[in-house]
Amino acid sequence: MKKIIIVGSGISGLTSGTYLSKNGYDVEIYEKNDYAGGFLTKFDRDGMIVDTCIHWMTGTKKGTKLNKIWNDNGGLKNADIIIPESFFDFTMDGKTIRFYHDIDKLESELYKFSEDDDKEIAKLIDAIKAINIMETPSDIPYELGDNTDMNANPDLLRKTAYYLVRNLSDLALKFNSPIIRNALLNSPVNKKFSAYYFVMNLANFVNGNAALPKGLSNGVRNRLVNEFITSGGKINLNEDVSEIIIDNGKAKGIISNGIIHYSDYVISACDLHYTFEVLLKNKYDFKPYKDYDLDDIKYPMYSYLIFAYKTKHDFKDRIAQCFKIKPLKIFNKELEFLGVRSYGYDDTLKNGEYSVVQILLETDLDDYNYLNNLSKEEYDEFKNKYQKIFKDILSELFDDEFIYLDSFTPLTLKRMCNSYMGQFMTYALTKKVPSYTRSFLVEGLDNFVLANQWLVLPGGTPVAATNGKLASQLVLYLDGKDYKNI
Ligand SMILES: Cc1cc2nc3c(=O)[nH]c(=O)nc-3n(C[C@H](O)[C@H](O)[C@H](O)COP(=O)(O)OP(=O)(O)OC[C@H]3O[C@@H](n4cnc5c(N)ncnc54)[C@H](O)[C@@H]3O)c2cc1C
Repeated sequence: MKKIIIVGSGISGLTSGTYLSKNGYDVEIYEKNDYAGGFLTKFDRDGMIVDTCIHWMTGTKKGTKLNKIWNDNGGLKNADIIIPESFFDFTMDGKTIRFYHDIDKLESELYKFSEDDDKEIAKLIDAIKAINIMETPSDIPYELGDNTDMNANPDLLRKTAYYLVRNLSDLALKFNSPIIRNALLNSPVNKKFSAYYFVMNLANFVNGNAALPKGLSNGVRNRLVNEFITSGGKINLNEDVSEIIIDNGKAKGIISNGIIHYSDYVISACDLHYTFEVLLKNKYDFKPYKDYDLDDIKYPMYSYLIFAYKTKHDFKDRIAQCFKIKPLKIFNKELEFLGVRSYGYDDTLKNGEYSVVQILLETDLDDYNYLNNLSKEEYDEFKNKYQKIFKDILSELFDDEFIYLDSFTPLTLKRMCNSYMGQFMTYALTKKVPSYTRSFLVEGLDNFVLANQWLVLPGGTPVAATNGKLASQLVLYLDGKDYKNI
């Protein structure tokens, strides 16, 4: 039985591991943390589960290719799926607009707030209906031929071209209605993204292909791990891989915690920068990948600053909300709108009457640098100052008590998974770069395959799962096996 070593037990590593185990390989994952799952995880704080990954999960609709991958890797196998009434709710000047799951309700809600925006609204609804389900290409790795499963057709292109050529921030300005405009500027989709990405997310939500698996990250993670183990795979935790062993241009194994482990193939399922700069010791051409870092306009990077609280407040069916607040300064910028995510909709995440609420702030490259330049004391002071400010805002907004649990910054995310600049997905998918795919194979290095969200813009759980599958197909191909039928 040929042996495969995978570095990293995130979604990509577990997915490629499961496919390869099921195809007769001896697969071992080496993971630096004391838990499997990478970003797909939760923290236990003061009796509460603080979920740090799934806000939305794409691929929940049965019959889609992505849903099949989530079943093959176990992630959504027999999972209960929660479809909330609204994608998000936006409140300003005493009014709230809801982005409903029901397309007819969504349409009438938008018209209710329209101020001469009827044409824009009609176009938006038309595009959502036309997109229906947009599948990520996932049949075969692009290195092995054309991925022809994009469901683009002339009608779809005509109805979505308008959104491909502008960012969400540009689209927002097309609306006269202040509430619609500001809702788009402050939606759960970063405004630097192409408007198309926002419309696609809304379409997936409306069509039941983006929803919330009960138990969120912990549930998906446990099912992924279970599928991998029952298919015969092994996970080694607390294994900090420092190097890929290379002999004559061939990957031969890894060094972890100073010990050599040999294998026939190596898959790196962790961050790309970490792979090239640390694991491969800068010996291979990283330029085709690295070029993306240098252009923050074309490829903006973003992350999150998260403050978590517990509360007895009942948010009812409101899971993602955004409010206009009295402006406050953070990172030398004015913050006028505040995103609040509540988790009481899932009873498995509750403790008695308590549920978790998170404040989410989008951060950029400058914010990362700001935090990175703080001393330990200044960093703690920063977190402490803002947790108090946001706690007061929450108490005022909801007239209830909120107890601080913890906060997570891009620096936390970097520490968690060695992710470049604390990014939890790749760069934003903008009007200038509507997509990209980077090679899963490294030129000049045999028996080595990359598998992670960084290879396809904009990353996220669906990309991580799909890329895990495609990476396993590449191993089958390199080993002369049939790679088409998985
Ligand atoms: C706050 C937050 C919110 C998110 N919201 C969403 C969302 O709503 N929808 C969505 O689709 N996605 C979301 N994501 C993104 C999603 O979590 C990621 O896209 C996905 O989990 C990435 O999986 P991966 O396997 O590519 O990488 P990772 O999860 O980064 O896995 C890489 C693994 O490699 C390990 N590793 C690194 N270096 C080493 C080493 N030297 N030795 C051994 N192991 C190593 C890491 O510890 C990690 O376990 C969110 C993420 C965060 C943090």
